[in-house]
Amino acid sequence: MTPLTYNLWTIGCQMNEADALRAAALLESTGFRPVPHARDAGLLLLNTCVVRQQAEDKIHSRLRYVAELKQHNPGLVVALMGCLVGKNPRELDGLREQFPFVDLFLPPSNLDPLRGFLKARGYPAPAEPGDDILPPPLPDSMTGRSVVAHLPVVLGCSHACTYCVIPYRRGGERSRPSAEILAEAATLATRGIREIILLGQIVDRYGLDLPGEIHLPELLRGVAAVPGIARVRFLTSHPRWITGELIAAVASTPGLCPYFEIPVQAGSDAVLAAMRRGYTAGEYETLVAQVRAAIPRVGISTDMIVGFPGETAAQFEDSMALMRRVNPDMIRIAKYSPRPLTYSARHLPDDVPDAEKERRRVAMEAQLRAMLTVKNAPLLGQTVEILVETIEKTGRRHGRTPDYKPVFVDGSAAAPGDLIRARITWAGPFSLIAETQ
Ligand code: SF4
Repeated sequence: MTPLTYNLWTIGCQMNEADALRAAALLESTGFRPVPHARDAGLLLLNTCVVRQQAEDKIHSRLRYVAELKQHNPGLVVALMGCLVGKNPRELDGLREQFPFVDLFLPPSNLDPLRGFLKARGYPAPAEPGDDILPPPLPDSMTGRSVVAHLPVVLGCSHACTYCVIPYRRGGERSRPSAEILAEAATLATRGIREIILLGQIVDRYGLDLPGEIHLPELLRGVAAVPGIARVRFLTSHPRWITGELIAAVASTPGLCPYFEIPVQAGSDAVLAAMRRGYTAGEYETLVAQVRAAIPRVGISTDMIVGFPGETAAQFEDSMALMRRVNPDMIRIAKYSPRPLTYSARHLPDDVPDAEKERRRVAMEAQLRAMLTVKNAPLLGQTVEILVETIEKTGRRHGRTPDYKPVFVDGSAAAPGDLIRARITWAGPFSLIAETQ
């Protein structure tokens, strides 16, 4: 075993994934190489998420395993990053006491402790500026290097949805300067990145906290104009902050993909009010109609929480009915779990039994599958544009349509990064198969 090997373990949202990939890129730029098993690594990087109890349980089980590894190998370096670490330095002492085998703690979206560690141990700085923002190579089952990069533009969140722990773990909203973002986008493009996904907890609010800064529509146009960048997306949106100007920018700017991630979370106005989301189900429907009227073939995905405190069976049926009316292209469904510090955990009893939450989750999943089976069927025989992202070991290409549907392509010799046109030969609820003409 060599100390210049690392193993990355990460869970959570796209922002967490972006943080983890940047940490991995930083390690690789200083000479580390990834290994698939933690037992073979000299450095373990664990990126954590505490947005649901299930995620937190997984972290604690992983940490128990890591503690055992460290017992057998005291030279093993353990770095813990992400939302379990949080932004509050006062919590670090407690974490050090709880996890004495951890060497390094990295708050969300902050790689400075890792840079400091590498410097103190004498590892070289990144070979070229920008090496530490590139996605690392793909897993062994695929070939090449990723052509899609996540680019965080707004860190943290200053909203106070009653169930959400993110503002407590990632801190208040901070937009990054546009000059820095555009420079990173240009660097990514020169290294072969073809699609950039701008990230923020409420990405639509980009720039609103920085006096004199440009806002999201202008930022998107700037990134789309970077030579070499074929596609730009942004997520996650909040229904209250999507503007007509943003919709118009997506509708009219070449390279901006027709795709919106707009979490709704519930279909009952009473539940939405208890969540303090700041809109009604009717307003959400109106917004989606406005987006669809302006952008033909737009992909809409959303999030739903089932079993929020006090959610009755009838209120859950409101969520089911809203989803039938909105007919989105994807729903990420989560069972409510109380998170420490949040308003709902402190004031609202978690009164929907887990079996009932699971029943609701399964029912919504089944409805989604049925809806998408019908929705995707007319795609059969159509020709779509695909950005080839990866090549599987079987030779099959994998990529996505502009509206973010995953497609497997047979009979293509395209390279990752190529934009190709292919005819859909099979349309399932969650993926498509196509062949080149
Ligand atoms: S908008 Fe609400 S759900 Fe989203 S990160 Fe902010 S507080 Fe959490």
